[in-house]
Amino acid sequence: MGAEIDAGLTPAEAAARLATDGPNELARAGQRSVLRIALGVLREPMLALLLLGGGAYLLLGSLTEALILLGFATFSIVVTVVQEARTEHVLEALRDLSAPRALVIRSGARLRIAGREVVCGDLIVLEQGDRIAADARLVEAHDLQADESLLTGESLPVSKIATVARADEPAPRSGGDGIPFLYSGSLVTRGSGIARVLATGPRSEIGRIGQSLAGLETEAPRLRRETTRIVGWCALGGGAVALLVVLLFGLLRGGWIEAVLAGIAIGMSMLPEEFPVVLTVFLAMGTWRIGKVGVLTRRAAAIETLGSATVLCTDKTGTLTENRMSIAALWLPSGETLALKPGLAVPDGFRALVDTAALASAEAPSDPMEIAIHDARGKATPLAEVHGKLVQAYALRPDLLAMSNIWDDGEELRLSAKGAPEAIAELCRLSEADHLAMKGPVEAMAERGIRVLAVATADPKDRNWAKGQQAYHYTLSGLVGLADPLRPSVPAAVAECRRAGIRVVMITGDHAATARAIATEAGIAAGDVLTGDDMAALDDAALAQRLKTVTVFARIMPEQKLRIVQAFKAAGEIVAMTGDGVNDAPSLKAAHIGVAMGQRGTDVAREAAAIVLLEDDFGAIVQAVRLGRRIYDNIRKAMAFIFAVHVPIAGLALIPLLFGLPLLFGPIHIALLEMVIDPVCALVFEAEDEEADIMTRPPRAPDEPLFSWQMIAWSVFQGGTTLVLLAALLFAETANRMPETELRALMFFALIAAVLALAFVNRSFSASLGQALLRPNPALRMVLLAVAAITGAILFIPAAQTLLKFAAIAWSDMALAGGLGILLLMVLEVGKVGLGRFLIGRGDQAPLFREGVA
Ligand code: ADP
Ligand code: MG
Repeated sequence: MGAEIDAGLTPAEAAARLATDGPNELARAGQRSVLRIALGVLREPMLALLLLGGGAYLLLGSLTEALILLGFATFSIVVTVVQEARTEHVLEALRDLSAPRALVIRSGARLRIAGREVVCGDLIVLEQGDRIAADARLVEAHDLQADESLLTGESLPVSKIATVARADEPAPRSGGDGIPFLYSGSLVTRGSGIARVLATGPRSEIGRIGQSLAGLETEAPRLRRETTRIVGWCALGGGAVALLVVLLFGLLRGGWIEAVLAGIAIGMSMLPEEFPVVLTVFLAMGTWRIGKVGVLTRRAAAIETLGSATVLCTDKTGTLTENRMSIAALWLPSGETLALKPGLAVPDGFRALVDTAALASAEAPSDPMEIAIHDARGKATPLAEVHGKLVQAYALRPDLLAMSNIWDDGEELRLSAKGAPEAIAELCRLSEADHLAMKGPVEAMAERGIRVLAVATADPKDRNWAKGQQAYHYTLSGLVGLADPLRPSVPAAVAECRRAGIRVVMITGDHAATARAIATEAGIAAGDVLTGDDMAALDDAALAQRLKTVTVFARIMPEQKLRIVQAFKAAGEIVAMTGDGVNDAPSLKAAHIGVAMGQRGTDVAREAAAIVLLEDDFGAIVQAVRLGRRIYDNIRKAMAFIFAVHVPIAGLALIPLLFGLPLLFGPIHIALLEMVIDPVCALVFEAEDEEADIMTRPPRAPDEPLFSWQMIAWSVFQGGTTLVLLAALLFAETANRMPETELRALMFFALIAAVLALAFVNRSFSASLGQALLRPNPALRMVLLAVAAITGAILFIPAAQTLLKFAAIAWSDMALAGGLGILLLMVLEVGKVGLGRFLIGRGDQAPLFREGVA
């Protein structure tokens, strides 16, 4: 280690500095305070209507009614603010998880911490793909390049060197080539190093410019657009009808204040203010639910898209496999081969090979292959004691899959290299025969699913390091085979994808035979294997043809992933793609759903991705798809319910006006109904369980609109049926000369029963009364309890009845109201079998009475 690298800060020092300097972060855009949320709520039209209604009652001299409406208004503000603050809180927690991390040295130990906890004076360890957490000066660098485009706008990476700088040397403001300074927010694009932090948070260069990294997108733009449009139309229609009502009422019946109240009641009943609420709450809760299975959603749109994914491109190492490597086989150019059981010591004859491989690894390795190689050395003498210092390193590059380290013990220089067998063969300039002799064992190992590295050495002549590895004369030392077991959950997850109509494709940088062996084990359909070289020779048309059968892409360069994504997209597929490396960012961005690895993934990959797998586990993607489908289903169910429920409410408010009957409902009644409806949509439908066919039906068409005409038609049918039943009851009882106050009470309770029936019907796409009634949903139980409580209060508190202008309610009327709800439920469940299935096109071919009730 260099002279300047000490044990770093102690945790106590770091904590003290964090307290004085504040966290290492920039002001975030888009964060909303409770006050901002409250102000936003005040702009809601529903609230304006409530306040307007309160004012109208005041003018009429009805203080109680006015106060009650104001009470509702306050209640609705509080509920909305609490709900939105909770949403904001959830998103905030997710933002923290997706923020960059940093590897620091404190009290001599390497520690991974959140980027915001980095303090001035910290030693940070940098590797390819890291987003640099703070302004810092390099104290050690190996072939390190940084992309400072965020700061300078210059897109080419610049080389960085470690110099023994004078402590007072000021860092240039604008970044640059050949200097030891690194800047917060820039990226390590190649190599590795250690740097000491100079400035954090707002004191860093990027903080001074006041730029902040892209935040978290919290809404699905397409859904938001559609919802805004439909709410706009409804509001326009509602407003027009309300105005018409005010005019008709005022002109025909006189009493303009009553006219305004009637208009307000109509306006409130037609305003679908629940639509946007459902969208925000469901998506935010959705990100939270998906978070619980270890998947972080960085873009809400991903939840929507997940359910429609048709192709899932996954990498191999670490996603399908455990990324826990161990040396399984060794081979020497003499032809000697050794199969090694995990944990067994390496025999003497092969020790030199393992030592060379270890010399070609990082000193403190984080790559599982290198860890395995180091571990295989057991208690052998530390490398530095035998071979001196690591003085020069050549990093792995996509165009040359090999890395070299040069060690200097003061007298002798020793270069060790390891990499893909083809790359090492090229560096060794192997003869045809020697190359062939090596290929046999490579293939034999690869066919067993083992990853093969070739190892070589060279003797540098002097200390003028060459620019690239090709300049040295390499000699082959042998082959190291590393086994990496498949994750146990993978075959089941792959099979589940198949059933759900999702094709799983493997893309790996590994050897074709290794890839094929692992793919077979994972159950990825035995198809063609296409290698990167072969792919390069194909034109787009030929590639499109091959895509139909290829299931394994091997020896793919990261840049080629982008081409694969684009080819799949051109073929009309909805592509989910996993990635972890620096070069994966473009393909993660290009894919419909970019999936980055939380453990292994570089900051760049995580920033480019829409979702991040915290545990890197393939099974989690499949669970996320499952949840994504469920959340989308639930949004549709809630929307269908809201649509349907507004038809009878608006109808019952209008019919008396049109037919010259006494008015039934005023703003108070509507507000009370909204108190049932809002929690039903927000809580019940959000918590609704998944459909039985969730992972056996094909992916949804990606362009299928949320408010398709079929969905609207089915909702209007439901609402229309409800209205017909209610209107029939209204006319029948009017003909029976039921007194106005009794009729009002009857219709109110009948409407509540109808709302509950609609909720039950829309809980499930499939027509099964058993499912509609018996499927457990804790939120539904709460809502039913609340409804029972409100009903009880109205029934037993005379003051409530006076307020609502209800007569004492007969039990026969309650039975009638309940009966109407049950009748409606039956009619609509039957309707679902024919019309519903035709219109919503789902329905798992279940008989009407599948369980329970039959
Ligand atoms: P994967 O897609 O399986 O993650 P990578 O792109 O990480 O594959 O690696 C591709 C190839 O690069 C490997 O098969 C190996 O030959 C070589 N390679 C990767 N990491 C190292 C390393 N640390 N040292 C030497 N060679 C490596
Ligand atoms: Mg990899």
